[in-house]
Amino acid sequence: MKEVDILVIGAGPIGGYFSKKMSQLGCKVLMIEEHLEIGKPFQCAGLVNPSSMEKVGLYDTVLSEIDGAIMHSPYGTTIEIGKPNQIRTYAVCRKKFDQAIVQQAMDEGAELWLNSKPLDTNYLDDSIITELLVDGETIEVKAKLLVGADGAHSWVRRQHRMGYPKEFMIGYQVEVTGFETKERMLEMFTGEDIAPGFFAWAIPNGDTHRIGMWSRAEDLDGRSCEELLNNLMTKSRWSYKFEKCKEIGRFCGPIPAGVVPRPVQDRVLLIGDAAGLAKPTTGGGIGPGMAQVDLIADELNEMITKNKLAKKILIKVTKKYAKAKKEFERIRSLRDFFVTSRTDEELEEIFRIFSKPEVIKLINEKGDIEKPLSLGISMLKNVPEFRKMAVKAGFIVLFS
Ligand SMILES: Cc1cc2nc3c(=O)[nH]c(=O)nc-3n(C[C@H](O)[C@H](O)[C@H](O)COP(=O)(O)OP(=O)(O)OC[C@H]3O[C@@H](n4cnc5c(N)ncnc54)[C@H](O)[C@@H]3O)c2cc1C
Repeated sequence: MKEVDILVIGAGPIGGYFSKKMSQLGCKVLMIEEHLEIGKPFQCAGLVNPSSMEKVGLYDTVLSEIDGAIMHSPYGTTIEIGKPNQIRTYAVCRKKFDQAIVQQAMDEGAELWLNSKPLDTNYLDDSIITELLVDGETIEVKAKLLVGADGAHSWVRRQHRMGYPKEFMIGYQVEVTGFETKERMLEMFTGEDIAPGFFAWAIPNGDTHRIGMWSRAEDLDGRSCEELLNNLMTKSRWSYKFEKCKEIGRFCGPIPAGVVPRPVQDRVLLIGDAAGLAKPTTGGGIGPGMAQVDLIADELNEMITKNKLAKKILIKVTKKYAKAKKEFERIRSLRDFFVTSRTDEELEEIFRIFSKPEVIKLINEKGDIEKPLSLGISMLKNVPEFRKMAVKAGFIVLFS
C-alpha cells in the first residue's frame, strides 16, 4: 500500500498550488488526476489577477495584459474603467498555467499519478484509505489527510456528504478570431436577453478573443446559454462587433459560488471549486482558491505533523476561511443589489450613475476585481443616488 501524508484528488490549479505549498512545508504529497494530461479539457476565460499571478510567477503563460474594461448597459450606455498600462488582470493560457503550477508542485517533491480516480474511502484510526483506479488497476493509498481539489462536481464532496455550493452558475464561451476592440481592454455586456442577472464578456487572448456569458439556471427561463450568446453576437445592438468573428473553439462549464456547508470532515478537506469558492461577482475561482490555501497551509501542516486531523481540528484550521464565507455572502448581496436583481431599465439607471466622472474616479481608485466589497460599500456610502437606493433596500443596515 502506498503511504503519504496528503492525497490530493484533482490536479487543477488549486490542487497544484496546494500540493506545492504543502510539499514546501515538508509534507509527502500525492496528486491524482483523472485525465491523461494536465490542463485539458479546461473551462475558463483565463483571467488571473496580478496578486495571484505574483504568487506563482507564471508570466510566461500570459496571453494578454488587460488594463481595464469597457462595460455596456442594456440600452447602450458605455463606461470605460481602468488606466492605460496599469495592469488590472492577465489572460493566461489555462493549459500552460495549470501544467506549470502542477510542475511547480512536483519540483517541490509532490508526486503525480495521471489517468487515476478514486473509487472508495475507508477510515483507520490514524489515517484514511482511498481505493484508486490507476491505469485500470486498483491501488490503495493510505494518507493522513484526503483533499478534494476535484472541481465543481467534486467526488470527494459527494463521497463524504459535504453539501453543495450555494449557487451554481453556468458559463459558456466561444473562442474567436476577428473581434476588434481597443487594445488591452476587455468588454462586458449586460441585458436580460444576453446574460440575465449577470454579464457577457469579450476577453483578449493574444491573437484571439474569448466571448462568453454566465448566468444561473433559474434566470435562463428555459433558454440555453448558447442561444443567449448567439443573441449577443448576432441580434444585439453590439452584433456589428462580431461580424468578422470566426469560431475556433467552445467551452461550457459550471461555476460553483458559495462555500459548501461542510468543507471539512474527519481527515477530509475541500479546496477550490470543490469547496464552492468561485467569486459570486466574477465567477473567478483561481484567486480565491489560492487565497484559501495561503490562509490554512501553516496551521494545517502543524496538524499533519501531529496527525491531529479530526473534523473539529480541521474546523479550527479552516476558521480563517470561514470568514471568507461571510465576505462572499456580502459580495453576493452587493451583486444582487447592483446587477442580479435588476430589470434592464433599473440596470440602465445604475449605468447612468456609474458613468458620472466622480463615480468612474471612485471605481478607478477602489476597483479591484478580487476585492469588490470595498468598492461596493464605498459606492453605497459616497454616491448619493446609490445611497438613496440602498436605504430603500435596507442595505446601509447590512454594510455600515
Ligand atoms: C466559462 C468559465 C469561465 C471561467 N473564467 C474564469 C476566469 O477567467 N478566472 C478564474 O479565476 N476563474 C474562472 N473560471 C472558474 C475557474 O475555471 C475555476 O474556479 C478553477 O478552474 C478552479 O480550479 P480547481 O483547481 O479548484 O478546479 P478545476 O480547475 O476544476 O480542477 C479540478 C481537477 O480535478 C480533476 N478531477 C475532477 N474529478 C476528478 C476525479 N474524480 N479524480 C481525479 N481527478 C479529478 C479535473 O480533471 C481537474 O483537473 C471560469 C469557469 C468557467 C466555467
